[in-house]
Amino acid sequence: MEDFFDIMNESSAISGLMSTGDIQLDNLLQEVDIAIQDVRDFTLPNDMVMDAVNGASDFFGMLHPAIIDSGATGVWTLDPMTYGDDVVGFARQQMMEMGIYGQDALNLVMTHECGHRALQAMQLDSWTEELGCDYLAGIRAGLQHQEIGIFENSLANTFGSETHPSGSLRVDFIEYGKHVAEQMQENGVQPTFENCMEAFNQHLADESNVIAQAREQIGLLNVDSPELSNSHQVAFTGKYTDAEINKLRENVSKYEYEVSNLKQKVHHWENCYGLSHSSGDLSKLNSAKSELNNALSNLKDAKSKLSYAT
Ligand SMILES: [Zn+2]
Repeated sequence: MEDFFDIMNESSAISGLMSTGDIQLDNLLQEVDIAIQDVRDFTLPNDMVMDAVNGASDFFGMLHPAIIDSGATGVWTLDPMTYGDDVVGFARQQMMEMGIYGQDALNLVMTHECGHRALQAMQLDSWTEELGCDYLAGIRAGLQHQEIGIFENSLANTFGSETHPSGSLRVDFIEYGKHVAEQMQENGVQPTFENCMEAFNQHLADESNVIAQAREQIGLLNVDSPELSNSHQVAFTGKYTDAEINKLRENVSKYEYEVSNLKQKVHHWENCYGLSHSSGDLSKLNSAKSELNNALSNLKDAKSKLSYAT
């Protein structure tokens, strides 16, 4: 994490075309060059994806993760104690549908995803973590002067859900990150992960009413109680309050209960299939098995978070 801003001043070389000495041919070549770049910006080829993921990882000073094709762009952080097992999933079609165009926009998407990697040990509720990742993307955009508009527009009109805040909040935190980065640069302050997260906590506190209203609007309980938001600061330094530890214990019990129910469900469908001896409908068994697998991995995750916190 200390290398968080190592590549902040890195600038990419822009390759110019050599002149042929023929103005018409030069113009034609330049048009072809622009057309090729436009196709690359639109189709997001693999090398652009690799650059985006690896560049975002370098920004945080983390190992380069495995990258796989996936139904949706996202990240599996797996063991919260290590960056070494993280996997980034990339969904080209989803990105194109969301209007992600060009290297900078893709870089910021992947900075958001790698933000999840950077924050994985911190036990944040999902809205706070998403806003944290958006904020960190804004920080990077501010420090490295990356074009931010396309990334913001791709999120601006998204709806809030249990896991993700609504687009307007997300854009607010991106803009705030960019503002913080620019202010630090202007004032000659060296940005660090710590001072950036301090500013993030401040914004969380300042916006707590807006966030609470946005959660209520879509019928979510407000997890951001005053005690929890006070403890964000503590969580960032790797310590946990009693309230947080209790919450982690509750999670473990919840998933233990879920796992035992799903085991019964799998057992039930296995019996049904065994009895009928037909080619049968395996989909119910398979879906119960995959639910069970999910619950098992949630349980494992909850247990490791708890053991990390205590
Ligand atoms: Zn996210």
